[in-house]
Amino acid sequence: MYVTKSRKANFRFGGWQQHLQWPDPKNRPSTGNSQKGLAMNGSPLRGYSCVSTVTKDLWERLFDSGYKADVTINTDNNNDIYAHANILGMASPVMRGILRQSKGRGRRRSISIHGVPQDAVQVFIRFLYSSCYEKTDMEDYVLHLLVLSHVFVVPQLKRECEQQLELGLLTTDNVVDIFQLALLCDAPRLSLLCHRMILRNFVNVSITEGWKVMKQSHPVLEKELLESMIDEDNRQKERIRKVNDRKIYLQLYEAMEALVHICRDGCRTIGPHDKDFKENQAPCNYTACKGLELLVRHFASCKLRVPGKCIHCKRMWQLLELHSRLCADSDVCRVPLCRNFKEKITRQSKKDEIKWKILVKKILRTKSIGGAPFFSWAIASPS
Ligand SMILES: [Zn+2]
Ligand SMILES: [Zn+2]
Ligand SMILES: [Zn+2]
Repeated sequence: MYVTKSRKANFRFGGWQQHLQWPDPKNRPSTGNSQKGLAMNGSPLRGYSCVSTVTKDLWERLFDSGYKADVTINTDNNNDIYAHANILGMASPVMRGILRQSKGRGRRRSISIHGVPQDAVQVFIRFLYSSCYEKTDMEDYVLHLLVLSHVFVVPQLKRECEQQLELGLLTTDNVVDIFQLALLCDAPRLSLLCHRMILRNFVNVSITEGWKVMKQSHPVLEKELLESMIDEDNRQKERIRKVNDRKIYLQLYEAMEALVHICRDGCRTIGPHDKDFKENQAPCNYTACKGLELLVRHFASCKLRVPGKCIHCKRMWQLLELHSRLCADSDVCRVPLCRNFKEKITRQSKKDEIKWKILVKKILRTKSIGGAPFFSWAIASPS
């Protein structure tokens, strides 16, 4: 478990940033091949290691014993850690630069790392020796290790921290802190993951301590996050709207199929006058048939029937007109008024024309029909 309620919980991006002594970026050598790293994989839990535990133990013993150590690392609370310039310099090009500059001030050189718990520095330096860490240490100090590995250019450890966060150490409690660190430490993948997590869990994240501190220390970032939250919200609404629209177009498409089917083959109680009907006939395969059957029956007997007076009849008029616009050949079509509507279309206003054209296009697109009149087959083929 990542500990947030312990002393480590005091770690906050806002105030902490100023305390850590950042090396001057101008002194940072290029990362190139300078970090060969040791051959051992950082994680004891996965991956392949070609270094035996004896070797690893040897490096850790060297660190723990401080045998012939020639560097003092000053940490918070005036606690010193002893290390070897050769190893620090080989593992971190930034350390190498600092050590080079501090040459000549006595035999033992010193480096200061403040603003992070001493234990985190200890874990960091140990990693420089053996490329290993304890799982619990990673859980406790992943944020500090991420920053230290970035500042001192130890890409192997930085990758490890990013990976461990991705694999589960990232939580709604720490995501705001880590998001800011990811931006600061140039970890684009991690910042993207944090950003997504914040948007997906906005309600929970916005009540965390991390969010409150960010609000105070980085109001611009808070504003940006809120804006992207609104964008995401709109995108979500747009997605829902599109899904609903598609449903409607699909229903219309099905109604069109069923209309042709009823007028051509007849179904159950309704159909062309030259067909026989059985009321106990098995249900047909057209999903919209049943509903349309009721509508057609109503339309046939409704006293009002005038367009605009009865909502059911109005619906029927619309379906008939829509059919006519989709119908390939009114001469052989058996849908009532198909030809009449085709003639009416030529007299229609530009505005209505555009409205209908858009609707037809959308229905065809819903079924991925390449714009060809699609009722020709429905009319020609027997059911
Ligand atoms: Zn039917
Ligand atoms: Zn009616
Ligand atoms: Zn027709």
